[in-house]
Amino acid sequence: MKAITLLGSTGSIGTQTLDIVAQYPDQFQIVGLAAGRNVEMLAAQIRQFQPSIAAICVEDKLSELKDAIADLDPQPILLAGEAGVVEVARYGNAETVVTGIVGCAGLLPTIAAIEAGKNIALANKETLIAGAPVVLPLIEKYNVKLLPADSEHSAIFQCLQGVPNGGLRRILLTASGGAFRDLPVEKLVDVQVADALKHPNWSMGKKITIDSATLMNKGLEVIEAHYLFALDYDRIEIVIHPQSIIHSLIELQDTSVLAQLGWADMRLPLLYALSYPERIYTNWKQLDLVKAGDLTFRAPDHKKYPCMQLAYAAGKAGGSMPAVLNAANEQAVALFLEEKIRFLDIPRCIERVCDRHVSDHRTNPSLEDIVNADYWARQEVINACEELDNSKIYSQLK
Ligand code: MG
Repeated sequence: MKAITLLGSTGSIGTQTLDIVAQYPDQFQIVGLAAGRNVEMLAAQIRQFQPSIAAICVEDKLSELKDAIADLDPQPILLAGEAGVVEVARYGNAETVVTGIVGCAGLLPTIAAIEAGKNIALANKETLIAGAPVVLPLIEKYNVKLLPADSEHSAIFQCLQGVPNGGLRRILLTASGGAFRDLPVEKLVDVQVADALKHPNWSMGKKITIDSATLMNKGLEVIEAHYLFALDYDRIEIVIHPQSIIHSLIELQDTSVLAQLGWADMRLPLLYALSYPERIYTNWKQLDLVKAGDLTFRAPDHKKYPCMQLAYAAGKAGGSMPAVLNAANEQAVALFLEEKIRFLDIPRCIERVCDRHVSDHRTNPSLEDIVNADYWARQEVINACEELDNSKIYSQLK
């Protein structure tokens, strides 16, 4: 029986993790739950999974949460606010903490969990992208494991089992191509929020679905792969694979290539992050290669999707730059979802903010530097979005 705490329990990663826990009650037990603002769903989860502790991030929702489970006996410890989420992260005997909180908000609770000696099932990209300069030394210091729960990094991690140190030569990250992969570049200027939210293969949260449409998701995954697997950026490549059957590949020193395959189902990488190093039998739909049909590949289009190269550039700059890239992207995506900027403004905002950060760039940032850079970048996007000129971006892309 493995004790698990789940941060971001009402989001896409959170609910899928709880599906797994519900399916394998003999294998996993929930110690703590933390959610953002969805009281109703969190209350239902508390009833079903009976954690010892739970937190709601939005503070003034606490009384609502208390009322919603007032009849429960025994009562879990109930907390609120960011401090409450941090407390859940470090609480009790949980062996693994699943970090499904979207965005930079996941950074502080993840650090708290590491300092409490817990393994991290990493479903929050920002932990490494923004926080790697601080998080990686802590992983080493507290001797905990970082278990990737993202499909691509899980694929790489699975392929690497049994590969000796120094055996890895190249990573090939597969990308579905997102909602607009078959749309000509000149149509991108007009796309609406609802269009961008239609992902062809994966069922995910809103923010990451927009990131898939801009391909920033893949750029962020390149940075994450660099930190997770300690490989130079020029040895991490992106390949478009529209069917999302191959979840990524590794090339070894002798040019042998290993891949991990499966249907596009986030539960599989999540399950492996929870069960590692064991393999648990499931009754999930088995891969049928004949049904999967043709597996095709093509090169990424950097003109159509400038976010990938923005991410490579920020990754190579290192230090505080990936935190700025990530925060600028989060803010730009939020503005796009509010229909305050257009789709093509997203990369434009990010590029501008990263350019402006060059003079303040820290090569070895502290946690405070990272948090400050994150805050600054968000403000910069808000300031910049009013000055944007779509027609100019469009002509550059052509
Ligand atoms: Mg992914």
